[in-house]
Amino acid sequence: MTDRKKFRKLLITKKEEILSYLIRSKEDEDRLGESTQEPMDREDWANFTLTEDLMAKLADREIELLRAIDKALERIDDGTYGICEVCGQEIESERLEILPWTNLCSRCTHNLSG
Ligand SMILES: [Zn+2]
Repeated sequence: MTDRKKFRKLLITKKEEILSYLIRSKEDEDRLGESTQEPMDREDWANFTLTEDLMAKLADREIELLRAIDKALERIDDGTYGICEVCGQEIESERLEILPWTNLCSRCTHNLSG
């Protein structure tokens, strides 16, 4: 059994890691640290959607990663998380620990990358 709660937390932590510095620097530009906004909690990050403005500041690699994270969060919600999209087998939990946003098992990843 895949521990969905645990991986959900890992995914959101990663999303926060990528986005929090961007959002902080945007607030700094706007108000030089006088922001009265509450810090975002975990559920805010789970539902946070990228704006064009933020995307413009991210590297392609980071955008791809964020999209993969969002898809993985959707799969957690619909119950298909941890299942390889190519062969339908469960993805190794050791692999999910390192790459919680992956949708491929290690064998299929290897096959696809040649
Ligand atoms: Zn597979």
